[in-house]
Amino acid sequence: MIQLKDLTKKFDTGKTVLTAVDNVNLSIDDGEIFGIIGYSGAGKSTLIRLLNGLEKPSSGTVDVNGQKITAIKGADLRKARQKVSMIFQHFNLLWSRTVQENIEFPLEIAGVPKAKRESRVKELVELVGLAGRENAYPSQLSGGQKQRVGIARSLANDPEVLLCDEATSALDPETTDAILDLLVDINKRLGLTIVLITHEMHVIRKICHRVAVMEGGKVVELGDVLTIFRSPKKDITKRFVAQVT
Ligand code: ATP
Ligand code: MG
Repeated sequence: MIQLKDLTKKFDTGKTVLTAVDNVNLSIDDGEIFGIIGYSGAGKSTLIRLLNGLEKPSSGTVDVNGQKITAIKGADLRKARQKVSMIFQHFNLLWSRTVQENIEFPLEIAGVPKAKRESRVKELVELVGLAGRENAYPSQLSGGQKQRVGIARSLANDPEVLLCDEATSALDPETTDAILDLLVDINKRLGLTIVLITHEMHVIRKICHRVAVMEGGKVVELGDVLTIFRSPKKDITKRFVAQVT
């Protein structure tokens, strides 16, 4: 379980102090696909970066499966981050390395021996549907295939949680659907908890169990996806629901 308690992140820009995440309290269950939706600047990326310790909170705590992410640093934090993995809108692949080498990279960092790395990469390539493309470079792949590499790489060290920051925003609708199907498949097969940020309500409707709506750093509405679609309460939620109905 992921627990956020009184979580606040302020950025001091010298002249002003901006509250990007404002006293958020949330629990995300094991195996859940949890969506976070909000307009640009709502604080979604900051919130997700607090979940894997890429940002330090100004106050409050993040607890992932019993470990206080906000209380650890150095080697402990690096180890914890293997359990809380992340994929990105622009894939963040290593452009001078092949598919195989990209997926192998986190295993190398973790000190996994060569033979084991190779068998693990083979499994992952099959899991994400890229068998046969091991020796391609990212520049030779479509956007959807690049994100498949991103997903395979993020799964290399058997994470418990996968964070997705606008992971389908750079993709066309059909490719988006295929990647979302893959995320559902991974969620079911591996029992992985997925936290997914988007500004597109159809993404939420397609795969999420629950959704939090963020505005001005706060969670302004939270509920299971069916209920939110049936009876959105806040105006902002109504606007998001109207995107797809
Ligand atoms: P988008 O949909 O555009 O990605 P978002 O919901 O992910 O937006 P954040 O990136 O979390 O929003 O930003 C929330 C607020 O915090 C914004 O006003 C942003 O300018 C500010 N912010 C984020 N990171 C920093 C930083 N490192 N320094 C200063 N301000 C920051
Ligand atoms: Mg963002």
